[in-house]
Amino acid sequence: MEKIIVVGSGFSGAILARKIAEELERKVLIVEKRPHIGGNMYDEVDEHGILVQKYGPHFLNTNNYRVIAFLKQYAALFPHETKLLSYIDGQYVRLPFNFKTVQQLVGPERSEGLLKKLRTAFAGRDRVPILELVDHADPDVSAYGNLLFEKAYRTYTSKQWGIQPEEIDKYVLDRVPMAMNYDERYLNKDFQYLPIEGFTKLFERMLDHPNIRVELNTDALEKLTMGEGTVSYGGEPVQCLIWTGPIDELFHYRYGALPYRSLDIRYSYEDKPSILPSEIISYPQAPGYTRSTEYRKIMYDDGGARGSVVATEYPLAYDPKAAVGNVPYYPVVTKASSAVYEQYLEQAAEYRNLFLCGRLAEFKYYNMDICIEHALAYFENVRDYLKRDKEESK
Ligand SMILES: Cc1cc2nc3c(=O)[nH]c(=O)nc-3n(C[C@H](O)[C@H](O)[C@H](O)COP(=O)(O)OP(=O)(O)OC[C@H]3O[C@@H](n4cnc5c(N)ncnc54)[C@H](O)[C@@H]3O)c2cc1C
Repeated sequence: MEKIIVVGSGFSGAILARKIAEELERKVLIVEKRPHIGGNMYDEVDEHGILVQKYGPHFLNTNNYRVIAFLKQYAALFPHETKLLSYIDGQYVRLPFNFKTVQQLVGPERSEGLLKKLRTAFAGRDRVPILELVDHADPDVSAYGNLLFEKAYRTYTSKQWGIQPEEIDKYVLDRVPMAMNYDERYLNKDFQYLPIEGFTKLFERMLDHPNIRVELNTDALEKLTMGEGTVSYGGEPVQCLIWTGPIDELFHYRYGALPYRSLDIRYSYEDKPSILPSEIISYPQAPGYTRSTEYRKIMYDDGGARGSVVATEYPLAYDPKAAVGNVPYYPVVTKASSAVYEQYLEQAAEYRNLFLCGRLAEFKYYNMDICIEHALAYFENVRDYLKRDKEESK
């Protein structure tokens, strides 16, 4: 029986398990409640030969080459620059908004003066948060920032987070940027890639180690016992529990449920090679849904796909017991939910051998590159603990 248990096989759990198995030469058991590994990164080839990402589209964008170098040990990557369009007032405009969008939204004539002002106001800057436009002293610049908020963000945010549009303040824009040029890439990160064979194959190779055993279809909560500062799994005390699932579930909702948004993803197939004008379309003004993804435009083209499939996302509240909406996607971080989370953290601190890592355990929205960097760094906490524990038990 392994004495080190990792709950969850997403990036957080898989990276920690691999490093423990390889660098510390210790046996690890990964417990995963889904029927597959990879967490929300899971993808599979459908009956039409199209690689579909089951939990929504994921793109690898980073400025940190260490992340890429780490992943290249487990998969061949191909360059892929993420491109998005937004469907606004009956036309497709680039997302993030750029100088071309200015011309589309205010017309070529009126855009001339506005573009001059934007070039002067933000000279030397590649991307500028829209909020800076909203708050700008020049009334034309500020009016354009407000137009973007009204047309593109108010209703989108309302659907995404399940709040009435009237309740949404423009200050939710936070760091949403506008490109101060004609750059069409969704993110201006240096390294933009996808795995040729998909993320699931990458995870298979990462977890393929003689010291790693994976138990699928197993809800760890059914076998875990959290005693007074002690943890046991299947009745046996564990040396170390790494938990990457929702922290409130680990403590049986003692301080209440933490809120998440979920997605109902609906698919439609057409027997033609292309359906949408871009791989992702955002729909701020449409009723109920936020965006659509055409996976054939994302996957590495090996010539095996027939027709094309579009996945459309309908956001809804997370409910672990519901038939639809039972996957926690986005943590809803507010003052109230952060206070509840702090209570769970205090509870967790009572266990010296409990490690919380990942977007569910830490109740944070991590992009995959940050999630990977974080898990790589977090490994050092686990390694130091195991070393200390070994010395203390001598
Ligand atoms: C819709 C969407 C799109 C995204 N797109 C991007 C993108 O384009 N680029 C990017 O960089 N990032 C993106 N992200 C973020 C990315 O998905 C995360 O950073 C990453 O997947 C987090 O990995 P994780 O291991 O922390 O969590 P997860 O992948 O959620 O893994 C947690 C695992 O724990 C398991 N688990 C939970 N409870 C239990 C239990 N009781 N017993 C056993 N197992 C359990 C779950 O089944 C799951 O497999 C996106 C996120 C979402 C929601």
